[in-house]
Parts: sequence; C-alpha cells; structure tokens
Amino acid sequence: MIPFSGFRGTTLVDYPGKVAAILFVSGCNLRCPYCHNGRLFQVDENSLISAHFLMDKLRERKSFIDGVVFTGGEPSLYDELADFISEVKSDIGLSVKLDSNGLNPEFLKKVAGDIDYFAIDIKTTPHLYATILGGEIDEKTVGENLMKTKLFLESQTDKTIEYRTTLYPPVISLDGLEEMAHLVPRNARWYLQKFVAETAWSETAKKTLGYSNKQIQDMAEQLKKVSEKSEIFFRV
Ligand code: SF4
Repeated sequence: MIPFSGFRGTTLVDYPGKVAAILFVSGCNLRCPYCHNGRLFQVDENSLISAHFLMDKLRERKSFIDGVVFTGGEPSLYDELADFISEVKSDIGLSVKLDSNGLNPEFLKKVAGDIDYFAIDIKTTPHLYATILGGEIDEKTVGENLMKTKLFLESQTDKTIEYRTTLYPPVISLDGLEEMAHLVPRNARWYLQKFVAETAWSETAKKTLGYSNKQIQDMAEQLKKVSEKSEIFFRV
C-alpha cells in the first residue's frame, strides 16, 4: 500500500504556473535537520489515506486543477506509486510534478514517461549525507546515485527540471556548492533556498543561524562564475 498521508485539493504555490492538487506520502530515507515535514518521517498505519479515495478526489477536481504534485516524505521509496502516477497522467490527463531527493534514479527512470516536472532536492556534498542528514547510505552510493540521476535527467529534454538546495550552514558552504555543481544537470534550474529555523523539526536546527539574503546572493553570483552554470537562482 502506498502510504499516502496528506492531500490538499488546491495549491497555487507547489507547481509553478499551475493550479494543482498535492499528495503527500510518508516515510523518508533521510532526516534533514531543517525538514518542515518531520511528522512524515515514519509511516503511521492508522492515518493513511487510500489510493482509491485519492484517485476519486482527483477525478472530481479535474475541471478545477491543471496538475498534481507528489511530495513527501520521499515518493521514490514506493515502486507501486508508478502505477498511480500513470493513472493520474494517462486516465485523468493532469500534468504531474514529482518532488524527490534524487537518491533513487531507478524509480525516476520508471516514472519519467508520466512526469512533466522533476523537482530534485540536492542537499549537500555526498560525504555529508550520512553524517549530518541521517541517511543510511554511504558516500559512494550517494555520489553514484546522484550522478545517475543527473545523467538521466539530462536526457529528459522535454521536461522541466528544477534542483533545489536548502542553505543549512552545517552542510552548505560555497566550497560545498562548487563541489555539488557537477551533480546538477545542465538543463536544470538550480534554486538556492533560505534555511528557515522556525519550521525545522530538529532542536539543533531551530537554534542554527542561517545565511543572510546578502550572503546567499553573493554565493549564487560566485557559484555562477565558477560552475559555468547560469541558471542559478536565490529563492527566499
Ligand atoms: S529528504 Fe525531504 S522529506 Fe526527507 S527529511 Fe529531507 S527535507 Fe524532509
């Protein structure tokens, strides 16, 4: 069973340029200290929403929305989500955006035919995933999987590809961003996002001071120069 744990019939902010519904799955293979969806780390069997119910909701809403966003938690943990996404795309005819941490390239390949918009969170350099983000995979696997995801998405020339990085100081510095740049597809827009302490689940993150707007703008400008990547933006 896909652990759907949340649904909003309308969002104007989660799918750029579209009025969309948004579906949340619970369960995640990371524990980013700044995550604002900490309640979704574990699957709570008692509060799941059935796939059947959600499909009916989307059919009901298809005249009012243009698309659907799948987010989490981490959607790529669930192979069976591929069939659900396919039904949303092919039978209901809605555009589909997928949010993912990009660590499961095989899942992304499996669903790519039904995805219009990939939004991939690249968190930090591979060696910090296991130590600070609580992942259970090692540096080598993280690096290899992020590279596979990058190469695959570079082949998806008809899709919109967005990469996002939350600028949490313990895992992000300018040097780190420069190192991460080779894992970002050439056809992606890369958004540097401000870290928000107030909504973090971790007590450590709540007490961590984020970078200022000026510092982030400077980092983005510097990164553009050294990475030869022009599509880098600052998102508050
Ligand atoms: S990968 Fe996303 S959902 Fe999972 S802990 Fe990190 S920010 Fe939260």
